[in-house]
Amino acid sequence: MDTKVLNNISYGMYIITTKEDNKNIGCFINSLIQITSENPIIAVSLNKENYTNKILRETKRCAISILTEKAKKELIAKFGYFSSKDTNKFEETEWKEIDNLPVVTENACSYIIGDVINIIDVNTHDIFLIRITKTKQLSEKTPMTYKYYHEKLKGKASKKAPTYIEEKEEKTKGNRYKCTICGYIYDDDKEKVKFADLPDDWKCPLCGVGKDKFIKI
Ligand code: FE
Repeated sequence: MDTKVLNNISYGMYIITTKEDNKNIGCFINSLIQITSENPIIAVSLNKENYTNKILRETKRCAISILTEKAKKELIAKFGYFSSKDTNKFEETEWKEIDNLPVVTENACSYIIGDVINIIDVNTHDIFLIRITKTKQLSEKTPMTYKYYHEKLKGKASKKAPTYIEEKEEKTKGNRYKCTICGYIYDDDKEKVKFADLPDDWKCPLCGVGKDKFIKI
């Protein structure tokens, strides 16, 4: 099966958030579709290992921010590659408390608030059916598509994403190093500076972690 064909399926760029007691929880998602138009219901796919999945099962309420093409890679990386279990993703992120939910307003053109009405078990992921209770337009900026994220921002899917496809890495002669957080590859043959010679404060251009999170491959 040519799984690359699946790259032709279109997706958007969203951040889903909820609140565990007083702790704000959230993660990046791309798999969201509208299911019905009357009393609109949407479906969202979330990995079972995802902390947001665990908490959303309990709270059954969430907000979804629709990201624009101006969304920063750092924002997507923070919500996409790290876990709310041990990271406060809302620190240094613009957000507002709306209806007792944390709503990410940074680089968002609109947001949706809704209640989880059903959860469908699909192997590694769960589909959350969410009935929309509120929507708000924040700006007229263009929503970002997943294709735009991959092609313009050179973003990569997290291993937990429903659309993750393992990339065959082309081999070059020199040393290559892989970011263990986001999968970014630093190839000595393609860069002006060898990985070993990068300054200590150098950061992964995709997710922002330090050199210590890279492994030689
Ligand atoms: Fe990284």
